[in-house]
Amino acid sequence: MSPKRALHLMKELPEWLDPTPWFPNTESTDKRAIQSAILSENPTERELAMMLSPAAGEFLELMAQRAQAITRRHFGRTVSLYTPLYLSNFCNGGCLYCGIAGDRRAKRAVLDKEQLHHEMQAIKDLHLEELVLLTGERMPEADVPYLRDCVAITAEYIHNVNIEVFPMSEPEYRELADAGCTGVTLYQETYDQIVYEKMHRWGDKRDFFSRLDAPDRALRGGMRTIGMGALLGLADPLHDMLCVYRHAKYLLKKYWKAGVSISFPRIQPQLGGFAADYPIDEKMLAQYIFALRICLPDVPLVLSTREPQRVRDGMAGLGISKMSVASKTTVGGYSDDSEESTEQFSISDERTIPDFCEMLKEKGLEPVFKNWDSTYREPAHYHGTT
Ligand code: SF4
Repeated sequence: MSPKRALHLMKELPEWLDPTPWFPNTESTDKRAIQSAILSENPTERELAMMLSPAAGEFLELMAQRAQAITRRHFGRTVSLYTPLYLSNFCNGGCLYCGIAGDRRAKRAVLDKEQLHHEMQAIKDLHLEELVLLTGERMPEADVPYLRDCVAITAEYIHNVNIEVFPMSEPEYRELADAGCTGVTLYQETYDQIVYEKMHRWGDKRDFFSRLDAPDRALRGGMRTIGMGALLGLADPLHDMLCVYRHAKYLLKKYWKAGVSISFPRIQPQLGGFAADYPIDEKMLAQYIFALRICLPDVPLVLSTREPQRVRDGMAGLGISKMSVASKTTVGGYSDDSEESTEQFSISDERTIPDFCEMLKEKGLEPVFKNWDSTYREPAHYHGTT
């Protein structure tokens, strides 16, 4: 370990992320041990590391079978559907990998209330009942009061309103929960502090620890669910996947009434042309999804329209239990197909909802448009154990 890295790791790491007592050796090549890990009913963290290791790549078929059986056991044949809605792409953030970072020449836009109503009507016509509202970093154009109003409008139309925005304080999260927001999606991007610092050149997002603590603040603030993940391609994926696992286990233990889901975003083509230092091919992506499914049997695993059609078709029901559909990554994209791009990244699967559902049904899977009801919209009240 380099002195620089050691210095970073000494800084106030939470206990669940502390690598010092033991961090698994991910170079395992013991084939019998890998097979035994895949078939284990209650795998340890060390066994997860084995399943994530390159050597486990030759057992992909066995992992897929296990992942499918576990997914069927816990989710039946259902695949929950949701869609993202970009409220604003104003951002002064300096994330190297993002097409709408402050130094990109992206066209900027923010939805006003009337436009949001139009968007919601268009989404309502699609019969979707779960939505994620997105913005960039905290900006005057899209701060908490704006978000609160948007959540309230959105909650008039659909049952399950989530946000994927900037990290907030606990009272701010509570304000949004009171307005009808039920969940927060917030990726740590990478759990490697050195890479994190390099990727986030300026702005509030440079604060690694504030972001790490944000899911706790959101849950204490009354949110019911947390969506988490690492942006695959930024740093060593084995380390990031292990940290995602540890983070999920920590949240599930501390806030045992809360729901946690995990997404697997990979770096996608975007304005600025950032290339992944750790490219993740489709087999690696599948391996990571299967490994997490085997180790977290009842946690929803999510795959978005960032991924191409063949990957999504292949992974539906094989570990993945929740998918975005009919996504637009432009501001106002549902009701207005303007020519100039405001998108954060390119999407790959552009199928309509009927076409996507047809694919699911052909695979014997059942698309679920609504799995939560707004009558349960009271903010959650839990403060976590120890
Ligand atoms: S990733 Fe988010 S915070 Fe970073 S530049 Fe893009 S929109 Fe802004």
